[in-house]
This record gives sequence, structure tokens and C-alpha cells, in this order.
Amino acid sequence: MIDYKRQCQEMVENQLISRGIQDELVLSAFGKVPRHRFVPKEFLDSAYGDHPLPIGEGQTISQPYMVALMTEALQLKGQERVLEIGTGSGYQAAILAEIAMEVYSVERFEILASRAKRVFEELGYSNVKVKVGDGTLGWEEFSPYDGVVVTAGAPHAPKPLVDQLKEGGRIVIPIGGSFSQMLTLVIKSRGKVSSQNICGCVFVPLIGEEGWKANKKLR
Ligand code: SAM
Repeated sequence: MIDYKRQCQEMVENQLISRGIQDELVLSAFGKVPRHRFVPKEFLDSAYGDHPLPIGEGQTISQPYMVALMTEALQLKGQERVLEIGTGSGYQAAILAEIAMEVYSVERFEILASRAKRVFEELGYSNVKVKVGDGTLGWEEFSPYDGVVVTAGAPHAPKPLVDQLKEGGRIVIPIGGSFSQMLTLVIKSRGKVSSQNICGCVFVPLIGEEGWKANKKLR
């Protein structure tokens, strides 16, 4: 039998704390969310490994450290409404749901969205709502958001996401080409938008009206 609890604790210590993740709310969320419930059965023995894993449809569940870095950059305190673009396995949304008040997540693949919804139900994450659609257009109905996390690589920060962000809100988004991007923090303050580089990263492409076009060769 795999000791997931121990693997989870080791992930927090060896992959997150040792690399500088300090936010107690983030570390505590990673200690609670059972990552093995979000990965396909064939990868159960490496669910807590220091790498992304395939989840079907050519998509991935991100490396734990990357999920932690993106979550920490949002500086959540507990009362927030957060939007995630790219539900994928649902793992990042579950981490956000442990910290924030409400999480809204958009996924373009129906099969991934319905799988993630099932896991949220089984684990009791009632503060996460998922919809199938083009996340580059955001989810206007529940806006404005305190934070937005985009878990796919974009050519630029989609305008609808900036528009749907609260004053003082933060967007964490990988921006760049198809082979690598810069994880970028976008802050909206007094009507102005500024951005800061966090680190280099590699994500699957954000496909949509305000992202990359499907089937078009990427940069
Ligand atoms: N957050 C996910 C997790 O925790 O497993 C990882 C997501 S994976 C790296 C990126 C996801 O973004 C994929 O599931 C992909 O289908 C999705 N995606 C790409 N473009 C999208 C779009 N325009 N709207 C919504 N989802 C999109």
C-alpha cells in the first residue's frame, strides 16, 4: 500500500519549503489536498513526484512547486473570490479552495471538467464551481475577482481577465511562446496595470479567442 500521507508531507518539505515557499496557508493547503485523487490511475505511484503528469487530452497536472508558486503569488488571506483558467485535473482549484472563499474554474475540455467536478464532489469541495468554455474570456457572471490564475501559457494577459479583476487584484499567468514562458504577476492598481516577472516556466498553450488559435503553429 502506498503511504500517500507520508509522500504528501515529504512533497511539502522537500519540494516546497526547501525551495522557499513560506506562506503558511499555502503550505497547509498542500498538506491537506490528496494529489493522488487528481491523477490518472496509471500514475498513482508518482502522484507526489517533483514533476507534471499527463491527465489526458494532451494536458497535464502541473508540478507541485509551480502550483505552490502561483498560489503564493496571489497572496490570498481567506476571504477571496478567485478565478482559475484551465481546470485540468482540478488540483490547483482544490488548493485554492482550501484557502479562498470561492473558486471559479473554466476548462475547455468537457471530459476534464466533468472528471474534476466529480473529484470535487467526492472530496467535499463545495466552494468550487466549474464551467466548460473559453477561459480567455473569463467568467463575467461572478466577477470581479480578487485573484486570477491562468494555468496555460498565453501570448499576453487576456483583456477580459484584466477587466474582470478587482482594484488591487492579482493575475498570475505564464506569458510567452510555445516552448517556454515567463510566469508573470499582473497587478491592477488605481486603474493602472503593472506586471512583474516571477520565473521562467513551461506550460501547455492557452487556446482561445484571447489566447493562441487552435491548430495554428505557435511561436
Ligand atoms: N490547473 C490544472 C491542474 O491543476 O491540473 C492544470 C492545467 S493544464 C497545465 C492547462 C489546462 O488549461 C488544460 O486542461 C487545458 O485544456 C486548459 N486550457 C487551455 N486553454 C484554455 C482556455 N482557453 N479555457 C479554458 N481552459 C483552457
